[in-house]
Amino acid sequence: METTLDGKVALVTGGSRGIGAAVAVRLARQGADVAFTFRSDKEQADAVTARIRAEGRRAIPVCADSADPGAVVAAVDQVAETGGRLDILVNNAAVFIVGPLEELTLEQFDQTVAVNVRAPFVASQAAARHLGAGGRIITIGSNMVGRTVFPGFALYSMSKTALTGLTKALGRELGPRAITVNLVNPGATDTEMNPADGPMAGTIRDFIALGHYADPADIAAAVGFLASPDSRYLTGATVNVDGGFTI
Ligand code: NAP
Repeated sequence: METTLDGKVALVTGGSRGIGAAVAVRLARQGADVAFTFRSDKEQADAVTARIRAEGRRAIPVCADSADPGAVVAAVDQVAETGGRLDILVNNAAVFIVGPLEELTLEQFDQTVAVNVRAPFVASQAAARHLGAGGRIITIGSNMVGRTVFPGFALYSMSKTALTGLTKALGRELGPRAITVNLVNPGATDTEMNPADGPMAGTIRDFIALGHYADPADIAAAVGFLASPDSRYLTGATVNVDGGFTI
């Protein structure tokens, strides 16, 4: 299997923990130098940096708030400059703001759209200026767009649904440059955002055909494939990695 990413440079947004950290380490294991953004937690960012270096690859941690479009563009440009190139963008950072419709605020709407929708758009736009043939844009959505089983998801589901349109449109637009664009929709994955021992975990588990939460490495494995040369004919696609939640 041609999973090798030797000589490539990847950028993962929100890579200091959870799925983003697993993706960063996975891409390093496949041979890429890996940059990642984080917002606040320097200690966790240092830990991920150490894990990437332990794979024998260069790590480029960048403190950048995805809510700030200028910071997102600067991060992309900094990685291309420091790494000497940019081959793979993984739009992973997101906020998870849920609650009853009547209690959701405009500030929460703006924050959700800024981080979950505008940042992937802005990062993809900036990355497209650096990506060459074989480039990859992979965005992390959510299985909630396929099956919204709980009330209170108006902002989160709305924002994640927008990523399907972004993925298809960019897949079409960047295809002639041999750049592929795909969406990974994870199911319940054991992270700080959705701990496997959280209050809703039992109910969520009942909907999962495989009967258990994903490990962040399960999502990273799909991203690793989409980042690799093996996936070269796959674009504009949505890959559900949800243990059968949306069956
Ligand atoms: P997580 O554990 O909450 O980790 C989020 C990561 O994103 C952290 O590294 C965090 O860094 C970073 N981040 C958050 N806001 C940011 C911002 N404004 N700017 C820059 N970085 C920011 O989340 P996760 O569970 O790994 O989720 C990762 C992705 O998978 C998200 O897109 C999420 O919607 C999606 N997803 C998760 C699940 C699940 O069950 N866990 C299911 C479906 C989809 P700091 O610590 O520095 O803030």
